[in-house]
This record gives sequence, structure tokens and C-alpha cells, in this order.
Amino acid sequence: MARYAMVTDLTRCVGCQACTAACNAEWNVPAGQARTRVLPTGATGTFPNLRAAFYVAQCNHCDEPPCVRPCPSGATFQADNGIVKVDPTLCIGCGFCVDACPYEARYLNPETKRVDKCDFCSGRLEKGQQPACVTTCTAHAKYFGDLEDTAGPIFQLVYGKSAKRIESADVAVGPNVYYLGRRDEAALIAEVFPPRQPRMPAAAEFWSRLVKPLALTMVGATFLGQAIAFFHQLQTGEKHSDD
Ligand code: SF4
Repeated sequence: MARYAMVTDLTRCVGCQACTAACNAEWNVPAGQARTRVLPTGATGTFPNLRAAFYVAQCNHCDEPPCVRPCPSGATFQADNGIVKVDPTLCIGCGFCVDACPYEARYLNPETKRVDKCDFCSGRLEKGQQPACVTTCTAHAKYFGDLEDTAGPIFQLVYGKSAKRIESADVAVGPNVYYLGRRDEAALIAEVFPPRQPRMPAAAEFWSRLVKPLALTMVGATFLGQAIAFFHQLQTGEKHSDD
């Protein structure tokens, strides 16, 4: 099973926002929202030691995604290939996951009333295509593929060229979007746009700690009850036929 990841080469990105435009068009993103954004850090430091970068921000498909736990309906889930998805048929638009994301990668679509975000263009992947942002990048700064394919570009860039993730001492949830730079631009981005502590509203906390396990227990109990009843029926049926 593939484990997907993305790498953006910040030494190549020119901030043209072609990726944002392509993504918006591909996924019919409403005005004022975005699945991927290009955010300038601005220059920091003093001449001649100035640093600046364009932060290409999107869902990081985190190894430990804080957005999954608070979802009351199970609409947000992580697939076996690592991609964190939203099932719009299950989403109830409560927005708990929007608050929980440290990268502010989710938005509530005002038209569909459902949460939306980058899913690494899963629909395109199923057709054997690369994500829209990768194929559209004018500077060829974006790479996408299987992190576990040792001969593939992502493995080489992450492990061979030490691409970095945007993390902080307080928030480390295993993002699978990496950044290449010459002057530790990932650290600069983490300074200017630090991942925020996942927010868990009281209602979401109440749900995930109490109601969800209880609901699962009840489903389990119901299943167990049905199984016991089924075997009981089998036994009594056999007994009756013996009689
Ligand atoms: Fe969830 Fe946000 Fe991580 Fe994406 S970046 S997996 S939306 S917590």
C-alpha cells in the first residue's frame, strides 16, 4: 500500500499561485476559500542575511490527524494510503474538525454546508493522474508520490535531500507535506505561520470522550446481542428438529 506525500521545493516556487487557481477550478472551490494557498512570509533578518519564502499551505495528511477524533459522524477519516478524507455524504457541517486542524487547512463550504479540504486530488489519483497543483506548477516546484517507494522522487527528496516539515515544539502530528529549501525556509515558515494547538470544543470533547465510545459499545452490544440470539435460534431450531 502506498503512503502518499508531497514535497514543495521552496527554492523554485515563485509565488505565482497557479496551484491555487488550478485547485480551485478542479474542485469548484467557492470564492474566498481555498484548498491550497500561497502565503508570503515577508523578509526577515538583516542585509545581507535576509530570508523569505512562499508558504504553499494545504492539508498535511498528518500521521496523527487531530481532525479525525472530534468528527461526530465519522465523515473525516484516514485511508490506508495515509490520505485524510472527508466523506460529504456523512459530514454534518458542525465544523469541529475545522477548529481542530493545526494548519487551518479546512473550510466550511457555504454552498454545500459541508467541510472541504485538499485530499491530494484523490479523484485524479484514481484515474492515474497527478494532483492538479503538481501538473500546473509553472516553476515545477511540486512533487507528489509514494513515500515508501525507495526509487521514487518523494523518497529521494525526503530522505536524500532532507526535506522538512512545518512543525513546532508544541505541535508535532506527523505532517506528510515536506519543504525543500537552501536556508531552512521550513523553520522560517514555522516561525511566521506556526501550527496552532488543535482546538477541541467542549461539545466535541464530550462527544469523543463519552458519547462516541458509548455509541460504539451500544453498537457492539447490539451486534453481540444479535449474534447470541442467532446462535440461540440455531440451537433451539436444532433441538426442535431433534424432537
Ligand atoms: Fe487534518 Fe489539518 Fe492534519 Fe489535514 S492538516 S490531516 S485537516 S489536522
